Amino acid sequence: MAKNTILAIVVPCFNEKDLINSTTQRLLEVLSDLEKKEKISDKSYLYFVDDGSIDNTWYEIAKNVARHPNKVKGLKFSSNFGNQKALLAGMLQVRKIGCDAVVTIDADLQQDENKIEEFIDKYDEGYKIVFGVRNDRKTDTFTKKFTALAFYKVMAILGVNIPKNHSDYRLVSREVLNILDEYKETDLFLRGFFHAIGFRKTKVMFDVKPRKVGKTKYNFITLLGLAVNGITSYSIVPLKLICVLGIISTIFGFSMGIWTVIAKFVWNDSPNGWATAIIISSFFGGIQLFCIGIVAEYLGQIFREVKRRPRYLIEEELL
Ligand code: UDP
Ligand code: MG
Repeated sequence: MAKNTILAIVVPCFNEKDLINSTTQRLLEVLSDLEKKEKISDKSYLYFVDDGSIDNTWYEIAKNVARHPNKVKGLKFSSNFGNQKALLAGMLQVRKIGCDAVVTIDADLQQDENKIEEFIDKYDEGYKIVFGVRNDRKTDTFTKKFTALAFYKVMAILGVNIPKNHSDYRLVSREVLNILDEYKETDLFLRGFFHAIGFRKTKVMFDVKPRKVGKTKYNFITLLGLAVNGITSYSIVPLKLICVLGIISTIFGFSMGIWTVIAKFVWNDSPNGWATAIIISSFFGGIQLFCIGIVAEYLGQIFREVKRRPRYLIEEELL
């Protein structure tokens, strides 16, 4: 039965021209190995998503599509929509083309591609979602390590439970893809989504390899953006916190008021409190701006959602 499983491997690519050939080669080996072991069907294929690269990535993908008919397919975005959109598009397209399970993996193969076999084994055991979880963060830069750790901490505090160090390297089954298709959110936060929807899940540990060619496409700002989207799409705790903060500061302000009145009339102690006044007003000014900022993040989220614009624009698909 297992041998009928059509596996699609989705690979998001942004300016990866030097990696396309070697990655295609390596992933085709993985597929043919699994086919030989009769773990997947020989109709399994690779699906590259060119996320609006400005180098020759699409040219390289197209060459491989021609070189390996039926085994390599490709999709080209009209511009750069970001790795999350590329993953989403890849999964939704292979669902349409046809597959029983999909694995998403980065073009630089930093995530150990040899683990795909374990993903398939878990799938055969009946798991519908298999998360790739990294063993450690040795190869990460300090900023990345720090943002990642802070992110998982904040998410846990906010009640969104995403296992630590889980990546966008995962297998999901056709049933899960059908659910994904029903989520029309503009800024769907994939890592949160796959946790929130239920289904039988498990994880597979893997080691992260250093990137061989090119540079990471992420910087502090893009990572922060991803984190903020994750929080605002899956938790409204920050909004509730504003309320709590408001109550605390009201009590504080009220007590200060009473204390000032008492000090004035009982001890006739008119304070020379210039510094105190400045500190208090800037403190509350700060809190208020911060709270407006939180509200603004949600407003932005709503703004993007209500417009219902397409999540990405497809320029070309090669099948
Ligand atoms: N990527 C993408 N669109 C982007 C940025 C990145 O499709 O706007 C792809 C990239 O080509 C790679 C994957 O997403 O296949 C992960 O990117 P990268 O290796 O730069 O991230 P890191 O490994 O540092 O997390
Ligand atoms: Mg990488």
